[in-house]
Amino acid sequence: MNLHTHATHALMEITARPATIFVKGEGSWLWDHNGKRYLDFVQGWAVNCLGHSPPAVIDAISRQVRELITPSPAYYNSVAIELAAKLTQLSGLDEVFFTNCGAEANEGAIKLARKYGALHCNGAYEIITFEGAFHGRTLATMSASGKKAFEPLFEPKVPGFPKAQFNDMASVRRCIGPKTVAIMLEPIQGEAGVLPATDQFLRDLRSLTKELGLLLILDEIQTGIGRTGKMFHFEHVGIEPDILTLGKGLGGGVPLAALLATETASCFAHGDQGGTFNGNPLMCAAGIAVLGEVSRPDFLMSVTEKGEALTAALAKLAKRYGLGEVRGRGLLQALALGKPLAVEVAAKAFEAGLLLNAPRPDSLRFMPSLTLTQGDIERMTLILDDCLGNIIGSA
Ligand code: PLP
Repeated sequence: MNLHTHATHALMEITARPATIFVKGEGSWLWDHNGKRYLDFVQGWAVNCLGHSPPAVIDAISRQVRELITPSPAYYNSVAIELAAKLTQLSGLDEVFFTNCGAEANEGAIKLARKYGALHCNGAYEIITFEGAFHGRTLATMSASGKKAFEPLFEPKVPGFPKAQFNDMASVRRCIGPKTVAIMLEPIQGEAGVLPATDQFLRDLRSLTKELGLLLILDEIQTGIGRTGKMFHFEHVGIEPDILTLGKGLGGGVPLAALLATETASCFAHGDQGGTFNGNPLMCAAGIAVLGEVSRPDFLMSVTEKGEALTAALAKLAKRYGLGEVRGRGLLQALALGKPLAVEVAAKAFEAGLLLNAPRPDSLRFMPSLTLTQGDIERMTLILDDCLGNIIGSA
């Protein structure tokens, strides 16, 4: 198949893509239009938590598609009810609103906090967010994000998102005023290059928000659903948020995300929130299948073990080539290269049949399937070793 016979020009040019078309995926592997095989450590940006086309999701969707695809969100359906019950049971939060992507879940979280402020905090609407944060690409979630590249875009921004420094309580305190209603953050800033909040910072934010009657919103779109070795990252820290957003892994590859809230924070009135596809049974069936696998204690334990193996493998490479730190938790990790070589290394790896992401010029990100094998880690390490040898060894 020739790439040029494809009308790629009919797709909006929103990012630089390699001249390759992917046609098939299975587990940790992807195949392109020439039959070349790639070991996938991107997995749809940490989406395919069970790998490509996992049997559990195939079965669930195949069964559901014959039963009921969508009755409209204006009616109950048994699949959304079951998935919401499972998520509340696992998370300890009380109510769920399903969305189609992470940005929409965060947009809902922002609206919910503003509604809470209108009802309970004299109209407070400001949500403190963080430098480096990434919360999505709607206008409000881009405004909530602290990504430098977003700053000049789509002005005027949605107001009400004062930015604090990550892992710096003093800067958070400086942002607090009479209009503050919530603090929102990712427990590990993924797009910023896998920068973890310290456990102490998360605990301090929980104490401060409780003390001041503010809401704590955790964006666990990247860190949730087993990615860090617990079902939710906040379990590592022993805190609970008032509002939680999930996405990516929740659907195991299909568009499904969720906004969860405690009973107190869940204050939407009829008409405040909705959406045509929200909570449709087809996607929710995939979510149930994913939770059935990921929430098993042995599954989560295996994520922790494979995370440790990945850390050890990356640390070895870091030592061999004099690179920087290995950051992250579980199977969300970054390797700091110490030099702005990440794009070049990722491109070389792509040529060699390995998909890696370069979220920052000096960092590589690893977000493989949670079901990957020890052999996959070893194979990735060999390819990366070779690429680093070519680029850094000869630099
Ligand atoms: N929040 C975080 C932490 C993310 O990593 C992402 C996506 O990368 C989003 C929100 C946006 O999710 P989506 O791309 O599904 O809208």
